[in-house]
Amino acid sequence: MEMKTEQAVAWIEKANALIQSNKEYLTELDQAIGDGDHGLNMSRGFQEAEAKVSGTDYDTVADVFKDVATVLMSKIGGASGPLYGTAFLKMSMTVKDKDPVTEANLADAVEAALNGMKQRGKAEQGEKTMIDVWHPVADFLKNGQNVQADKLEETAERAMNETKDIVATKGRAAYLQERSKGHVDPGSTSSFYLFQALADVWKK
Ligand code: ADP
Ligand code: MG
Ligand code: MG
Repeated sequence: MEMKTEQAVAWIEKANALIQSNKEYLTELDQAIGDGDHGLNMSRGFQEAEAKVSGTDYDTVADVFKDVATVLMSKIGGASGPLYGTAFLKMSMTVKDKDPVTEANLADAVEAALNGMKQRGKAEQGEKTMIDVWHPVADFLKNGQNVQADKLEETAERAMNETKDIVATKGRAAYLQERSKGHVDPGSTSSFYLFQALADVWKK
């Protein structure tokens, strides 16, 4: 796949659609091991991000990602806003001057996003956070040439499901200690929707 501004905007539109239709589910997941606002946070943030990017003419993919970052940082309260904001800001910086954005560029962008989020949230893989989805996806994109969209989606989905067995050591769920086990992490689930949306754009 090569990503131009149309595909970047389509990614955000599809991600928003998935988040809006799974808003209640994200709320339930966060009610179980957090404070119950992840559905609201994500739906508000992506609604605004989508409105912004679909109503703007862009010259570069980097500019699309930069606007998404700005909106997410200002509209999403809680842990996930600054983290997703950082992800899109790092992706924007990585694809600056790349037109179109190639698969290799996108792999670099996702890796930069992962590193930025790890730094921002001080979380490593295995702490039951969205990092647990971004990490294997970054590895998958890095290792693959001619990435298959289905495999991308599968990688993210498996990683999301695997957070169920983890005891949280970062974020609000960490307060529950052992009782955080048995629940899928909300942020890993919203990250799965993000990569499911990317896979969808990839197929077209
Ligand atoms: P809050 O926890 O502040 O209410 P949200 O509910 O919107 O914010 O987001 C919660 C999600 O954020 C968690 O499910 C987890 O995936 C992610 N998260 C929380 N803390 C961290 C962290 N330090 N590093 C990475 N991700 C984190
Ligand atoms: Mg929450
Ligand atoms: Mg909160």
